[in-house]
Amino acid sequence: MIERTSKQPDCDVVVVGAGFAGIYALWQARQRGLSVRGFESAPDVGGTWYWNAYPGARCDVPSYNYAYFFDSEIVRNWNWSDICAYQGEIQHYLRHVAERCDILRDIAFDTKVSRASYSAETALWTLSTSSGETVVCRYLVLAIGALSEPKVPDIDGAHDFAGETYFTSKWPKDRAVDFAGKRVGVIGTGSSGVQVIPEIAKTAERVFVFQRTANYVIPTEGGPIDSKHMSSLRQDPQAVRQALRETYGGNQPLGIGEHRFGELDETGREEALRKAWDGRYPALAFRDAHLPEANAAISDHIRKRMQAIVEDPWTAHHLTPWDHPYGGKRPCRSDVYLQTFNEPHVRLIPLAETPILGIAPHGVVTSAETIELDVLVYATGFDAITGSVFAIDITGIGGRSIKEAWRDGPLNYLGTMVHGFPNLFLPSSAMSPSVLSNMATLAEQQIDFIFDSILWLEQHGRPGLHPQRESQERWREETLHYAGRRPGALTTKSWYSGANIPGKPRVFMVYCGGFKKYHDTCLTELREGFPSYALERQAG
Ligand code: FAD
Ligand code: NAP
Repeated sequence: MIERTSKQPDCDVVVVGAGFAGIYALWQARQRGLSVRGFESAPDVGGTWYWNAYPGARCDVPSYNYAYFFDSEIVRNWNWSDICAYQGEIQHYLRHVAERCDILRDIAFDTKVSRASYSAETALWTLSTSSGETVVCRYLVLAIGALSEPKVPDIDGAHDFAGETYFTSKWPKDRAVDFAGKRVGVIGTGSSGVQVIPEIAKTAERVFVFQRTANYVIPTEGGPIDSKHMSSLRQDPQAVRQALRETYGGNQPLGIGEHRFGELDETGREEALRKAWDGRYPALAFRDAHLPEANAAISDHIRKRMQAIVEDPWTAHHLTPWDHPYGGKRPCRSDVYLQTFNEPHVRLIPLAETPILGIAPHGVVTSAETIELDVLVYATGFDAITGSVFAIDITGIGGRSIKEAWRDGPLNYLGTMVHGFPNLFLPSSAMSPSVLSNMATLAEQQIDFIFDSILWLEQHGRPGLHPQRESQERWREETLHYAGRRPGALTTKSWYSGANIPGKPRVFMVYCGGFKKYHDTCLTELREGFPSYALERQAG
């Protein structure tokens, strides 16, 4: 029971973060007649697309889908220059949307939220910020991103390196980094490494690629968007918005095989795989591509294609992922990465054979040699999903911290709310379709669900909402159930399950039941008055 007290909130809603989710949340708050304040640690909007300004950074979900649909005029008036737009253009787009929605005036930039504590007596959240401000609100939306807390690898001697050091996840914005004539080392070959390495190789004198685990690299999309396709999207953006929510991944797949794996003989399968590779949808060569036998054929085919691109057999072998099936980790997309290794000044250092022993002032020391470097680039990823949450000191009912509640890995219901933390909303977080979907579609869907929930509370005079303990346990089981059906999900070491961070609990953190199922479950809760949640009552 909540006691009425004289304490008044400073505003109804606080939104932390100004990426895809935060910008839309600020707009939604205003639309629903709620007073709102925003905080963002960066000096501008963009989130991912502000920070990851490394050369070659771009989305790999087509931009005509990786965009907002809530405002048809934005869809009609924005022209993407490429099917998969580059970082600068996406940030410019997000800035354009923020200006159009007039939400910039609500945001305190360069301001980090460091603390958030809930009072069960008042049903209010109190936040502390890096500027020394204290803000009290009723609803807290932490749109702080799943991939926003960079991972800094703990390598001996890293601080002693005398050359230039860069992180792809915090790339300088005030100047162009010049690699010309320099010896550059890159640690990390995930999606960021795969995008930045070919760009560095364009001007560097030598490039050394330190690869711990090889990844699948499949063709990407590029070039101008088909004008007929764009016109059809613009005809009825709201219908497209609805249709995206009915798909598995929140976007329109580039193609999908006509047949099921079991319907085809060996020749038919080869033909389907060839067609899918040429059509740039190799992962969906068969209608039932998720089946282990279909996935094994797809994985083998991609391995062969990758090896055919790289001329040197030793390099080709080491660039090929032998240890996990396709999809066990986030695959990378590029038409230039593997080709870069055919250039004489680019060398692969497979760390499984010659591990890094440490970093010296003039280069990287492996078990075989010291590689002298002028520049070291870390493309080492993120403390994904929980990293940004734990960076804030969050306490809920009874002063229990979220770190304690998530000691054995994240637990929530429908990827957005945590038992014991009423009115705290976490878009893009654990146990949502997250990175296995188009995250722009997800941002809009989750923020709609969050503000529909808030509106419901307002209309029903209920001060607080949080999921029942059993609901989040059920949700974790459902998440694990679907992960178990995805080849390699539970057996591959990846950031999906926290395996990239030493000591992080191993829990698969992405909901693989598909966007439609996820969205339908959210709608059912709304329609039925939140049966899986605990609803607080106003005292008196
Ligand atoms: P973010 O964009 O991460 O924004 C979170 C914001 O919160 C950040 O600006 C951060 O500074 C701020 N913040 C965090 N903590 C605090 C705090 N305590 N106080 C104040 N501010 C705080 N997804 C796709 O679907 N397709 C893609 O092609 C794709 N490409 C990607 C490429 C890269 C290089 C990366 C890193 C990710 C990519 N993603 C992609 C995932 C991407 O993160 C999401 O698509 C989306 O941009 C996330 O938006 P968001 O608003 O949830 O979070
Ligand atoms: P990542 O996928 O986690 O890759 C990090 C890389 O660094 C891996 O190769 C990892 O090796 C290596 N690494 C980490 N610590 C290391 C150490 N101590 N020594 C040696 N190697 C080390 O991170 P990311 O590339 O930044 O991508 C993160 C996610 O962001 C992606 O999965 C994707 O969701 C998103 N993203 C998308 C795009 C896009 O194309 N749209 C681009 C960039 C990022 P191991 O594999 O062995 O751990």
